[in-house]
Amino acid sequence: MNVHVQGCPVAADVAPKPVRRESGQREVFCGLTGIVWLHRKIQDAFFLVVGSRTCAHLIQSAAGVMIFAEPRFATAIMEEKDLAGLTDANDELDRIVAQLIARRPEIRLLFLVGSCPSEVIKLDLSRAALRLSQKFSPAVRILNYSGSGIETTFTQGEDACLASLVPAAPPTRRSEDQLLIVGSLADVVEDQFIRLFDALGIGRVQFLPPRKASALPAIGPNTRFLLAQPFLADTARALEDRGAVRLAAPFPLGVEGTTAWLRAAADAFGVAPSLFEAVTQPHRIRAERALVRYRDQLSGRRIFLFPDSQLEIPLARFLSRELSMQLVEVGTPYLHREHLAEELRLLPDDVVLSEGQDVDLQLDRCRAARPDLVVCGLGLANPLEAEGMATKWSIELVFTPIQGYEQAADLAELFARPLVRRARLVA
Ligand code: SF4
Repeated sequence: MNVHVQGCPVAADVAPKPVRRESGQREVFCGLTGIVWLHRKIQDAFFLVVGSRTCAHLIQSAAGVMIFAEPRFATAIMEEKDLAGLTDANDELDRIVAQLIARRPEIRLLFLVGSCPSEVIKLDLSRAALRLSQKFSPAVRILNYSGSGIETTFTQGEDACLASLVPAAPPTRRSEDQLLIVGSLADVVEDQFIRLFDALGIGRVQFLPPRKASALPAIGPNTRFLLAQPFLADTARALEDRGAVRLAAPFPLGVEGTTAWLRAAADAFGVAPSLFEAVTQPHRIRAERALVRYRDQLSGRRIFLFPDSQLEIPLARFLSRELSMQLVEVGTPYLHREHLAEELRLLPDDVVLSEGQDVDLQLDRCRAARPDLVVCGLGLANPLEAEGMATKWSIELVFTPIQGYEQAADLAELFARPLVRRARLVA
């Protein structure tokens, strides 16, 4: 077994790990991608992208296989005359929003999502949101955020969206501390965590984003929040600006990460160690058993992670410590040293970390290393597969429920599957 549940080294024990910094061409999707999972999470929200045909195509192709009902996203396409300033884009936007709200009376929260084209013509969506809110509130709340950017990563869209929700959240009215879980989780995972927190005696757990727009969590100085995703720097800052306090913890991936994450909340809320042990032990044992078969398949296999989702560092910690994989290189688009401090301490001392991307140089290193498995964006996966390397799309890790005890083996399987598939192809 290679699972470390207790006794994480403290900061003083571990020297900071060197990080290679690169800036050059990058292969990433923009933040509009987040709409694909966010619109499923907030069930009465609608995402209106103010963008171009390219933006519409991106959303449709990313979400195409996942549409299960009438979609709650759309693109208000800016035509050439809008971009050339020949029409008043604000008038157009007001007309489209009025039409949309009349057609979809179930919408309670409308996000105006900025894009590269809307930013190029400096269309002020925050003023548009304010103007339209005055017209349609209280029935519909209208907020805005930006999903644009070739210099961003696709998970930053969620960060921008959640950060836009924070000022709209009501203040806390109760005096006792309240726990807030921050970051989009699949409903099934959220329900599992609610049961665990309940068993630990931590009641009134709230989630950001909520499932319904009307259930925005109350936020104030007595809010203690746990990040469930590692890509929420702006959201965390917005919460801290309202007095909320972040609980430092690794992220809830794998048995070790989930236990340490829960323990951070348990410690902050004064849960007795014996109760914590009694509540978590059966889950830990079951999850560790389920991991055994994947450790047999993955142990000693060499993995290279390209920077894409910002999940790379928690994933690398899980893959190396719970599945005994060898980390060839762990790339991340941004390294938030404070939010990832507990993760970095758990990585091997000789780990090769890189931040940012110069995709050609990184491909050279990857090709030279010939890893058994490469985690990368969609754009790199096909060429690398053609060169005989097994790949895993990093975007799949954001779309799939992977957090918590019950999902630890599912997460491991996501890495075992491409190796099995490639072995079949070669045989
Ligand atoms: S990168 Fe810009 S133009 Fe392209 S889809 Fe994203 S927001 Fe639209």
